Amino acid sequence: MTTALRTEGLSKSWGGFVANSQISLSLPKGARHALIGPNGAGKSTFINLLTGVLAPSSGEVFLMGERVTHLAPHERVKRGMARTFQINTLFPGLTVLESVVLAICERSGAARIWHRTVAGRRAEIDEAWDLLARLHLDRDADRPTRSLPYGRQRLVEIALALAARPKLLLLDEPAAGIPTGESSEIFDVIAGLPDDVTILFIEHDMDLVFRFARRITVLVGGKPLTEGTPDEIAADPRVREVYLGE
Ligand code: ADP
Ligand code: MG
Repeated sequence: MTTALRTEGLSKSWGGFVANSQISLSLPKGARHALIGPNGAGKSTFINLLTGVLAPSSGEVFLMGERVTHLAPHERVKRGMARTFQINTLFPGLTVLESVVLAICERSGAARIWHRTVAGRRAEIDEAWDLLARLHLDRDADRPTRSLPYGRQRLVEIALALAARPKLLLLDEPAAGIPTGESSEIFDVIAGLPDDVTILFIEHDMDLVFRFARRITVLVGGKPLTEGTPDEIAADPRVREVYLGE
Protein backbone atom coordinates (compact mmCIF):
# COMPACT_ATOMS: atom_id res chain seq x y z
CA MET A 1 0.00 0.00 0.00
CA THR A 2 1.33 3.44 -0.90
CA THR A 3 2.08 5.72 2.01
CA ALA A 4 1.03 9.27 1.22
CA LEU A 5 2.48 10.90 4.30
CA ARG A 6 4.95 9.65 6.86
CA THR A 7 6.67 11.44 9.69
CA GLU A 8 9.49 10.02 11.77
CA GLY A 9 10.10 11.42 15.24
CA LEU A 10 9.03 14.89 14.19
CA SER A 11 9.79 17.40 16.96
CA LYS A 12 9.68 21.15 17.45
CA SER A 13 10.90 23.17 20.40
CA TRP A 14 11.14 26.86 21.09
CA GLY A 15 13.83 27.44 23.67
CA GLY A 16 12.97 24.91 26.35
CA PHE A 17 9.33 24.58 25.32
CA VAL A 18 8.48 21.39 23.43
CA ALA A 19 5.49 21.94 21.12
CA ASN A 20 5.85 18.66 19.19
CA SER A 21 7.70 15.66 20.57
CA GLN A 22 8.63 12.60 18.51
CA ILE A 23 5.55 12.44 16.33
CA SER A 24 5.63 9.43 14.01
CA LEU A 25 2.61 9.13 11.81
CA SER A 26 1.85 7.15 8.69
CA LEU A 27 -1.10 7.85 6.39
CA PRO A 28 -1.86 5.41 3.58
CA LYS A 29 -3.13 6.82 0.30
CA GLY A 30 -6.80 7.79 0.65
CA ALA A 31 -6.68 8.19 4.44
CA ARG A 32 -9.24 10.32 6.25
CA HIS A 33 -7.22 10.97 9.35
CA ALA A 34 -8.12 13.32 12.19
CA LEU A 35 -5.67 14.93 14.56
CA ILE A 36 -7.35 15.84 17.82
CA GLY A 37 -6.28 17.07 21.24
CA PRO A 38 -6.83 19.88 23.70
CA ASN A 39 -6.03 23.49 22.93
CA GLY A 40 -2.29 24.03 22.78
CA ALA A 41 -1.58 20.32 22.19
CA GLY A 42 0.58 21.20 19.18
CA LYS A 43 -1.80 20.29 16.33
CA SER A 44 -1.28 23.44 14.26
CA THR A 45 2.45 23.28 14.90
CA PHE A 46 2.48 19.78 13.42
CA ILE A 47 0.68 20.95 10.25
CA ASN A 48 3.16 23.82 9.98
CA LEU A 49 6.04 21.35 10.15
CA LEU A 50 4.41 19.28 7.40
CA THR A 51 3.92 22.24 5.08
CA GLY A 52 7.37 23.71 5.77
CA VAL A 53 6.09 26.91 7.34
CA LEU A 54 8.13 25.84 10.38
CA ALA A 55 11.44 23.95 10.39
CA PRO A 56 11.54 20.93 12.72
CA SER A 57 14.05 20.70 15.55
CA SER A 58 14.47 17.05 14.59
CA GLY A 59 12.72 14.29 12.66
CA GLU A 60 11.70 13.72 9.08
CA VAL A 61 8.75 14.25 6.73
CA PHE A 62 8.11 12.02 3.70
CA LEU A 63 5.53 12.83 1.02
CA MET A 64 4.67 9.94 -1.30
CA GLY A 65 7.89 8.27 -0.18
CA GLU A 66 10.07 11.29 -0.90
CA ARG A 67 11.90 13.06 1.93
CA VAL A 68 10.69 16.66 1.97
CA THR A 69 11.80 17.64 5.50
CA HIS A 70 13.84 20.62 4.38
CA LEU A 71 12.00 21.66 1.23
CA ALA A 72 10.42 25.11 1.01
CA PRO A 73 6.60 25.24 1.23
CA HIS A 74 6.16 25.90 -2.51
CA GLU A 75 8.34 22.89 -3.35
CA ARG A 76 6.03 20.71 -1.26
CA VAL A 77 3.01 22.21 -3.01
CA LYS A 78 4.58 21.23 -6.35
CA ARG A 79 4.88 17.68 -5.07
CA GLY A 80 1.21 17.48 -4.17
CA MET A 81 0.79 18.92 -0.68
CA ALA A 82 -1.96 21.47 -0.17
CA ARG A 83 -3.44 23.32 2.73
CA THR A 84 -6.25 25.83 2.84
CA PHE A 85 -5.35 29.43 2.10
CA GLN A 86 -6.51 32.33 4.18
CA ILE A 87 -9.11 33.69 1.83
CA ASN A 88 -9.01 37.19 3.26
CA THR A 89 -5.46 37.74 2.12
CA LEU A 90 -5.93 36.09 -1.25
CA PHE A 91 -7.24 37.59 -4.48
CA PRO A 92 -9.20 40.50 -3.00
CA GLY A 93 -11.86 41.76 -5.40
CA LEU A 94 -12.02 38.63 -7.55
CA THR A 95 -15.14 36.55 -7.94
CA VAL A 96 -15.25 32.93 -6.83
CA LEU A 97 -14.84 31.71 -10.43
CA GLU A 98 -11.96 34.09 -11.17
CA SER A 99 -10.15 33.03 -7.99
CA VAL A 100 -10.43 29.34 -8.82
CA VAL A 101 -9.38 29.88 -12.45
CA LEU A 102 -6.32 31.74 -11.20
CA ALA A 103 -5.45 28.94 -8.79
CA ILE A 104 -5.80 26.36 -11.58
CA CYS A 105 -3.53 28.47 -13.79
CA GLU A 106 -0.91 28.60 -11.06
CA ARG A 107 -0.87 24.85 -10.90
CA SER A 108 -0.65 24.35 -14.64
CA GLY A 109 2.06 26.99 -14.95
CA ALA A 110 -0.19 29.11 -17.13
CA ALA A 111 0.61 32.25 -15.18
CA ARG A 112 0.35 34.33 -18.37
CA ILE A 113 -3.26 33.28 -18.78
CA TRP A 114 -4.59 36.85 -18.69
CA HIS A 115 -2.57 37.64 -21.81
CA ARG A 116 -4.59 35.05 -23.69
CA THR A 117 -8.00 35.32 -25.25
CA VAL A 118 -11.03 33.97 -23.41
CA ALA A 119 -11.07 31.04 -25.84
CA GLY A 120 -7.48 30.28 -24.85
CA ARG A 121 -8.54 29.97 -21.22
CA ARG A 122 -11.41 27.62 -21.94
CA ALA A 123 -9.82 24.52 -20.40
CA GLU A 124 -9.07 26.27 -17.11
CA ILE A 125 -12.53 27.84 -16.96
CA ASP A 126 -14.24 24.50 -17.62
CA GLU A 127 -12.15 22.85 -14.92
CA ALA A 128 -13.05 25.64 -12.48
CA TRP A 129 -16.79 25.16 -13.17
CA ASP A 130 -16.43 21.41 -12.53
CA LEU A 131 -14.67 22.03 -9.25
CA LEU A 132 -17.25 24.62 -8.16
CA ALA A 133 -20.10 22.26 -9.01
CA ARG A 134 -18.55 19.50 -6.90
CA LEU A 135 -18.40 21.88 -3.94
CA HIS A 136 -21.90 23.27 -4.59
CA LEU A 137 -20.31 26.67 -5.13
CA ASP A 138 -21.45 27.12 -8.73
CA ARG A 139 -24.39 29.30 -7.78
CA ASP A 140 -21.95 31.76 -6.18
CA ALA A 141 -19.46 31.69 -9.08
CA ASP A 142 -19.94 35.30 -10.15
CA ARG A 143 -20.00 36.83 -6.70
CA PRO A 144 -16.92 38.44 -5.19
CA THR A 145 -15.56 35.86 -2.76
CA ARG A 146 -15.46 38.36 0.06
CA SER A 147 -19.14 39.17 -0.29
CA LEU A 148 -20.09 35.57 0.60
CA PRO A 149 -21.13 34.42 4.07
CA TYR A 150 -18.16 33.18 6.07
CA GLY A 151 -19.02 29.49 5.70
CA ARG A 152 -19.12 29.80 1.90
CA GLN A 153 -15.76 31.60 1.97
CA ARG A 154 -14.27 28.65 3.80
CA LEU A 155 -15.57 26.38 1.05
CA VAL A 156 -13.82 28.62 -1.49
CA GLU A 157 -10.60 28.13 0.49
CA ILE A 158 -11.02 24.40 0.02
CA ALA A 159 -11.75 24.90 -3.70
CA LEU A 160 -8.50 26.88 -4.04
CA ALA A 161 -6.55 24.14 -2.29
CA LEU A 162 -8.15 21.51 -4.55
CA ALA A 163 -7.30 23.53 -7.66
CA ALA A 164 -3.71 22.44 -7.06
CA ARG A 165 -4.90 18.80 -7.51
CA PRO A 166 -3.26 17.77 -4.26
CA LYS A 167 -2.31 14.26 -3.27
CA LEU A 168 -2.35 15.31 0.36
CA LEU A 169 -4.80 17.86 1.74
CA LEU A 170 -4.12 19.37 5.17
CA LEU A 171 -7.04 21.08 6.90
CA ASP A 172 -6.57 22.98 10.13
CA GLU A 173 -10.09 23.37 11.57
CA PRO A 174 -11.81 23.93 8.23
CA ALA A 175 -15.12 24.61 9.93
CA ALA A 176 -13.82 26.94 12.65
CA GLY A 177 -16.10 29.88 13.28
CA ILE A 178 -18.95 28.45 11.22
CA PRO A 179 -22.41 27.81 12.69
CA THR A 180 -22.98 24.10 13.42
CA GLY A 181 -25.47 23.48 10.60
CA GLU A 182 -23.06 24.79 7.97
CA SER A 183 -19.95 23.09 9.38
CA SER A 184 -21.49 19.77 8.56
CA GLU A 185 -21.84 20.92 4.91
CA ILE A 186 -18.09 21.58 4.77
CA PHE A 187 -17.40 18.06 5.99
CA ASP A 188 -19.90 16.58 3.54
CA VAL A 189 -17.87 18.17 0.78
CA ILE A 190 -14.63 16.86 2.26
CA ALA A 191 -16.14 13.38 2.59
CA GLY A 192 -17.14 13.47 -1.07
CA LEU A 193 -13.60 14.08 -2.33
CA PRO A 194 -12.11 11.27 -4.41
CA ASP A 195 -10.15 8.57 -2.62
CA ASP A 196 -6.88 9.47 -4.33
CA VAL A 197 -6.77 12.58 -2.13
CA THR A 198 -5.32 11.77 1.28
CA ILE A 199 -6.72 14.00 4.00
CA LEU A 200 -5.34 14.96 7.40
CA PHE A 201 -7.62 17.27 9.34
CA ILE A 202 -7.76 18.99 12.69
CA GLU A 203 -11.23 19.43 14.15
CA HIS A 204 -12.41 20.17 17.66
CA ASP A 205 -16.05 19.14 17.16
CA MET A 206 -16.02 15.47 18.18
CA ASP A 207 -19.28 14.68 16.36
CA LEU A 208 -17.66 15.75 13.08
CA VAL A 209 -14.44 13.90 13.91
CA PHE A 210 -16.24 10.64 14.63
CA ARG A 211 -18.39 10.99 11.53
CA PHE A 212 -15.67 11.72 9.02
CA ALA A 213 -12.40 10.23 10.28
CA ARG A 214 -11.43 6.64 9.56
CA ARG A 215 -8.51 6.92 11.95
CA ILE A 216 -7.70 9.37 14.72
CA THR A 217 -4.48 10.43 16.41
CA VAL A 218 -4.77 12.05 19.82
CA LEU A 219 -2.11 14.60 20.66
CA VAL A 220 -1.56 15.74 24.23
CA GLY A 221 1.18 18.10 25.34
CA GLY A 222 2.89 17.75 21.95
CA LYS A 223 3.05 13.95 22.18
CA PRO A 224 0.89 11.32 20.50
CA LEU A 225 -1.21 9.71 23.25
CA THR A 226 -2.81 7.07 21.05
CA GLU A 227 -4.03 6.31 17.55
CA GLY A 228 -6.96 4.20 16.40
CA THR A 229 -10.32 3.90 14.71
CA PRO A 230 -13.12 6.18 15.94
CA ASP A 231 -14.55 3.26 17.96
CA GLU A 232 -11.21 2.55 19.61
CA ILE A 233 -10.65 6.21 20.43
CA ALA A 234 -14.17 6.66 21.80
CA ALA A 235 -13.68 3.67 24.10
CA ASP A 236 -10.20 4.71 25.33
CA PRO A 237 -10.38 5.82 28.97
CA ARG A 238 -7.17 7.88 28.60
CA VAL A 239 -8.80 9.93 25.85
CA ARG A 240 -11.92 10.50 27.95
CA GLU A 241 -9.76 11.64 30.82
CA VAL A 242 -8.00 14.19 28.62
CA TYR A 243 -11.28 15.65 27.40
CA LEU A 244 -13.07 15.57 30.73
CA GLY A 245 -10.10 17.30 32.30
CA GLU A 246 -10.22 20.16 29.82
P1 ADP B 1 -3.03 23.61 18.87
O1 ADP B 1 -3.15 23.88 17.40
O2 ADP B 1 -3.09 22.16 19.22
O3 ADP B 1 -4.04 24.37 19.69
P2 ADP B 1 -0.46 24.93 18.61
O4 ADP B 1 0.33 24.02 17.73
O5 ADP B 1 -1.02 26.15 17.98
O6 ADP B 1 -1.59 24.11 19.37
O7 ADP B 1 0.45 25.39 19.81
C1 ADP B 1 1.14 24.48 20.64
C2 ADP B 1 1.96 25.24 21.66
O8 ADP B 1 3.07 25.86 21.00
C3 ADP B 1 1.17 26.35 22.34
O9 ADP B 1 1.52 26.35 23.72
C4 ADP B 1 1.64 27.60 21.67
O10 ADP B 1 1.60 28.70 22.55
C5 ADP B 1 3.08 27.24 21.29
N1 ADP B 1 3.52 27.98 20.08
C6 ADP B 1 2.91 27.97 18.88
N2 ADP B 1 3.59 28.73 18.00
C7 ADP B 1 4.65 29.24 18.67
C8 ADP B 1 5.75 30.12 18.32
N3 ADP B 1 5.87 30.60 17.07
N4 ADP B 1 6.65 30.42 19.27
C9 ADP B 1 6.53 29.91 20.52
N5 ADP B 1 5.54 29.08 20.92
C10 ADP B 1 4.61 28.76 20.01
MG1 MG C 1 -4.52 25.03 16.28
